[in-house]
Amino acid sequence: MKKAPRTIGTFREFIKNELTGLYAVKEIESLTYILFGDLLNIPKHEIHLQHDRLINVDQGTKIIEAVIGLKSFKPIQYILGYTEFYGLKMQVTPGVLIPRPETEELLKWIVDENPSGNITFIDIGTGCGCIAIALKIHLPDSRAYASDISDTALMIARENAKLHRADITFFDHDIVSKEEGKRKKEKVAYDKSAEIKQEFPDIFKQKYDIIVSNPPYIPESEKEYMDKNITGWEPFEALFVPDQDPLIFYRNIGEFGLQYLKFNGKLYFEIHEKQGASIKRLLQEFGYSNVIIGKDINGKDRMIRCHKKKIQIP
Ligand code: SAM
Ligand code: GLN
Repeated sequence: MKKAPRTIGTFREFIKNELTGLYAVKEIESLTYILFGDLLNIPKHEIHLQHDRLINVDQGTKIIEAVIGLKSFKPIQYILGYTEFYGLKMQVTPGVLIPRPETEELLKWIVDENPSGNITFIDIGTGCGCIAIALKIHLPDSRAYASDISDTALMIARENAKLHRADITFFDHDIVSKEEGKRKKEKVAYDKSAEIKQEFPDIFKQKYDIIVSNPPYIPESEKEYMDKNITGWEPFEALFVPDQDPLIFYRNIGEFGLQYLKFNGKLYFEIHEKQGASIKRLLQEFGYSNVIIGKDINGKDRMIRCHKKKIQIP
């Protein structure tokens, strides 16, 4: 029997057949567009128009590999190796959280409220570096710092910063234990190579105008209700907090802020939709003022901002 030519059309059919039952029809369509768009660098409408365009062996192999990944619910961003955040290309690999649209909304709030560039800021739990990089690009005169506990995150964040020529000092710090790389000592394969330059002590030599964080905030018990492409692929430590202490990061970062925020400095957080009231109370108990909860595009409590005022005794 004569083999069907390897065209966009035949590969579309292949993708559809392989993914039907695992993904909704619309999702399969949009994944197909994303894959072809990335591989062939053509816009959506061209995919329809170029149905008979031939796919070479290399492209075909990539599509097959992508489909294998998708069948095990690997997020498309990990398959492609990048995503977009605030109009900027960000590399991502399993091991770093894929930036979310709600975090873009948090960034917009910060950008809107802070038009002046001559500030010092820190992004705690930077992941792929998305918040720090986008903020540094919008505030080019700022001094930018970012931290994470994950080696993979720090490596990818550095690469992304390089890609965007964003001058950011990254450092390895555990905001909960307050020790450098405490948890890392348990890891066998930690490579403290020259590339991962430790700039940890500098972080405590200054005060910040802005502290921003999208920390882990999902109670572990919610894991069973979440999508397989999140729970099976994204780093657990980036997302989840113990049920018995869901505000652990807000408390620790709040404390850090008492010491390291300048007077009139601001603290911005992304939050869990159900934790707005309790985080607001926590920040007020710390003595922060102007505590405002911001909603996301779906009308859910998703971010919070507060100020450190002059007289505030930790
Ligand atoms: N900022 C990125 C974003 O918005 O896409 C990533 C946010 S992700 C929800 C939380 C990040 O906090 C992860 O990169 C994780 O590695 C980091 N993290 C987890 N525990 C930490 C700790 N104890 N100290 C510092 N960072 C931590
Ligand atoms: N918004 C992310 C999600 O729903 C969670 C991010 C976080 O834990 N900070 O998957």
